[in-house]
Amino acid sequence: MAGEPQADCLFCKIVAGEIPATIVRESETTVAFRDINPQAPTHVLVIPKVHHPDAASLVAAEPQIAADMLREAGQVALDEKLAGSGYRIVFNTGAGAGQTVFHAHAHVLGGRGLNWPPG
Ligand code: AMP
Ligand code: ZN
Repeated sequence: MAGEPQADCLFCKIVAGEIPATIVRESETTVAFRDINPQAPTHVLVIPKVHHPDAASLVAAEPQIAADMLREAGQVALDEKLAGSGYRIVFNTGAGAGQTVFHAHAHVLGGRGLNWPPG
């Protein structure tokens, strides 16, 4: 059923506490933790506690939780003092765009120059 935990999902296991993560923020509906392979000095992932395969699926099914994820991403940027220098929120969607974990997540990246357009 949509939104139910998936036994083979890495991020569902982080939500359940079955795999450790460096958690920096938590809300009723989301968890934010440091990316294990950071691509910038600050690289935090914000995920919904419910399982949906990508951000578009999440917002279609549970728009309030998608809004929570975006709010929490902005709060991470404030907590990490990125608001002044700027930061990027990224939703890789589909394997062709680099998505490797099929549980919706926002990357919050900052602390270095960020090229546009991204690669
Ligand atoms: P994506 O490629 O957009 O699906 O992003 C998945 C991200 O999850 C990558 O940036 C990985 O480095 C990150 N990642 C994978 N395993 C872990 C883990 N155990 N803890 C934290 N981040 C992880
Ligand atoms: Zn999941």
